[in-house]
Amino acid sequence: MPPDATDRLATDVQFLKGIGPKLAMPLHKLGLRTVGDVLWHLPRRYEDRRNLPPINKARAGQAATVRGRIVGVSSRPTKGGKMIFKARLADATGEIALVWFNQPYVGKQMQKAYQDQVDIVAFGMVKEGARYELEMSSPEWETLDEDDDPDEFARLHPVYPLTEGVPQWVVRRAARAAVEFYAQDLVDPLPDDLRKKHKLQKLSWCMRQMHRPDSPEMQQEARRRLVFEEFLFLQVALQMRRQEVQQEVGISFPISQLAGVGQTSGNLFAALEEAHQGDLWEQVHAMLPFDLTGAQRRVVGEVWADMERPVPMNRLVQGDVGSGKTAVAACAMLAAVRCGYQAALMAPTEILAEQHFFNLSKLFAPVGINVKLLVGKQSASDKRKALQATESGEAQICVGTHAVIQEAVKFHKLGLAVVDEQHRFGVVQRMALRQKGFGNPDFLVMTATPIPRTLTMTLYGDLDLSVIDELPPGRKAIKTHWRQPYERPQVYAGVRKLVQEGRQAYFVCPMINESEKMQTQAAEDLYYRLKSQEYADLRVGLLHGQMKAAEKEAVMDSFRRHELDILVSTVVIEVGVDVPNASAMVVEDANRFGLAQLHQLRGRVGRGSTQSFCVLVADAKTPDVQKRMEVLRDTTDGFVIAEEDLKIRGPGDLAGTRQSGEIEFKIASLVDDGHMLEEARRAAIALLDADSALQQPGHALILERVRARRSDEALIVVS
Ligand code: ADP
Ligand code: MG
Repeated sequence: MPPDATDRLATDVQFLKGIGPKLAMPLHKLGLRTVGDVLWHLPRRYEDRRNLPPINKARAGQAATVRGRIVGVSSRPTKGGKMIFKARLADATGEIALVWFNQPYVGKQMQKAYQDQVDIVAFGMVKEGARYELEMSSPEWETLDEDDDPDEFARLHPVYPLTEGVPQWVVRRAARAAVEFYAQDLVDPLPDDLRKKHKLQKLSWCMRQMHRPDSPEMQQEARRRLVFEEFLFLQVALQMRRQEVQQEVGISFPISQLAGVGQTSGNLFAALEEAHQGDLWEQVHAMLPFDLTGAQRRVVGEVWADMERPVPMNRLVQGDVGSGKTAVAACAMLAAVRCGYQAALMAPTEILAEQHFFNLSKLFAPVGINVKLLVGKQSASDKRKALQATESGEAQICVGTHAVIQEAVKFHKLGLAVVDEQHRFGVVQRMALRQKGFGNPDFLVMTATPIPRTLTMTLYGDLDLSVIDELPPGRKAIKTHWRQPYERPQVYAGVRKLVQEGRQAYFVCPMINESEKMQTQAAEDLYYRLKSQEYADLRVGLLHGQMKAAEKEAVMDSFRRHELDILVSTVVIEVGVDVPNASAMVVEDANRFGLAQLHQLRGRVGRGSTQSFCVLVADAKTPDVQKRMEVLRDTTDGFVIAEEDLKIRGPGDLAGTRQSGEIEFKIASLVDDGHMLEEARRAAIALLDADSALQQPGHALILERVRARRSDEALIVVS
């Protein structure tokens, strides 16, 4: 229960009107012990009983509420030996039959209603019964006493989430009593001015409208407020964390000075370009075999400006697959090293770390910067050497897995940490790493593929954001096809044609049960089949994660040198591989991959100047698979794909193994409530601008809620 509960809200559910100790038991099963718990147990949906036609206007196929008196009752056995009970309900316009199967107690009640001639209301789906008669089977119903308001029945009724053995009516009764007698005790954590500004209703009003809505519009208005509130507490927590980092003393890298340009209020990279001279400018050019795109320049400028500021950098760089995030990270690391610090790059897996190491070693060789690799499976002596080099400062850049860098490494003078996330690294790990730094190191976070905007704002809401929204020049959009397994012969023929034109191709086998062994098996099987049958006359190679690093490198090298036409591989090639002449990719059993992963894979082709193709071979057994294949076929924009992925999979799955507490919302939805999230974020920023520590009395309850959130985080840290 939220911490604003007054004593009255802590009242045991058994004291609710109409509940008592016996009905309290099923409520306990749902985890509802206090009145406050009941209030915050919100309906899953609503049953709309407002359609109240005269009986002769009721139509089969519609849900309706009918009102009248019982004009006849009858019962008869079915063939299966059960009883059917029928009561005829009539108003001034017509008749409808209410039908129950095997419910003798309802039969008795109807009999009584018939004798007493009381008014009845009933709600259910109207059907056409025997002899064109209208009927409703097993309707919800009530007798109406003189002073009962039929509108009480014919309204929106809440449908609550339940567990086994808990009847809906018990929860409804408890909630109704809770709303009636206790909703006014809810203390509103949002001050009046904030509510006015965002056009939000009072909490007690919202609670009433959630449990007993007067109309769908009012329920929506109530929900809107609760969503806002939920997002607001999170956003305030994130912004406070951001503030805390901003108050720390970080490293001020003297980049302008190094670059020979004065302090600039514009983009630092642009200033450097303009000056067209100096050590840093020359080194950037010596390092990169290409000119940076406009977007890359802008982002490097943003990163460098952060590095120069005396507060620790906390920045997320997002860009589509192939947008050139590595070059941006390299520019940041170059600046750190030239300012006399070490830089670290951390990847979530060993394969990724190796790929980064390979790419960065190549980039940094011309400028004489020493890069070292640190992964778990290195030989003891290699690892010891790398550790020593890192501790002595001889290794200027250290590339490794998150685990290794966090646990084993001592740095001489760590100034910048680049985190390659893939949704696997969390706030807590970032904090832990901070302690390894020399002072407070700067942080640059990169994600492999774009992530949806709502997730960015929740998972990375405490970071500044840079977006590389441009691809390097000369890229042709990849053509993606989706083929059924029985169409493989045509697919193979198509690849053969490209190979005959001098191109190369990848065949990718899926991850099976997360098991590397089974993946390897699948790739080996395909490799032997292609090599001995379809492509017996071509040069076919094999690459998988269980090969030794040197073997992998040898295979990759021969593929790069075009000594192989076809490379059969596991998802090892997902990242970092860069062979412009490879212009086709066939993904086998593509249905086993997630959207983001397929997008990342597809990014391995389309790097040269010729038209590239990606063929997804997948049997669409479910609508979900069909949707994923169509999304990939129809768009190459990673940001669009990320939003679709969120819609298909939901936020929990998208966040992967990252701790997901931050994206678990009681009411709000990251899929549907994006605009509210934006609004709450702006509100949080404005709130802290006005009252940075939430010291004003009107903000005390917000502070309390935010603290409650943050103490959950603290729990994660110690466990
Ligand atoms: P990602 O953002 O997916 O990590 P990479 O950093 O791996 O992308 O870059 C993708 C490819 O584009 C690499 O081959 C890289 O060398 C190349 N590249 C990056 N920036 C540029 C640029 N400005 N001009 C030309 N090629 C570039
Ligand atoms: Mg990359």
